[in-house]
Amino acid sequence: MDNNCIFCKIANGEIPSSTVYEDEMFRVILDLSPATKGHALVLPKQHFRNIFDIDEKTASKLFVVASKVARAMKETLKCDGMNIVQNNEEIAGQTVFHFHLHIIPRYTDDGQNINWTPGSSKPEELQQIAAQIKSAL
Ligand code: AMP
Ligand code: ZN
Repeated sequence: MDNNCIFCKIANGEIPSSTVYEDEMFRVILDLSPATKGHALVLPKQHFRNIFDIDEKTASKLFVVASKVARAMKETLKCDGMNIVQNNEEIAGQTVFHFHLHIIPRYTDDGQNINWTPGSSKPEELQQIAAQIKSAL
């Protein structure tokens, strides 16, 4: 627990939140500035800055929780789709430096656009990049 981290305090129940799910490792809360109705954040109770330092146990349980919550949202909020978003470091839009996974229900005509501009590639470039990444795995 990091005493200067607001999500540590929320995840561990020191600051109240609109909690939709809690177990020994995670708390799932509603985002204070929701992109759409039901926008939620999965917060590990343990402090990790982001994807680059999350531990294996937390990473392996994360999508079990996310998919559970996603199904509950589909059933109750009747959303038409869902975006799962997870930002790491400032360049990627991270503003709170405690790992969190966004679960954003999508509705027809919700006016949101959560996307990127597709680029282009050459097969040899892709091969070279794949080899580079693979070398560290
Ligand atoms: P990110 O930009 O991925 O770091 O996302 C941070 C998210 O946390 C934003 O969507 C904020 O609206 C949300 N947020 C910040 N403070 C709180 C809070 N106290 N309770 C709930 N959501 C929060
Ligand atoms: Zn924290």
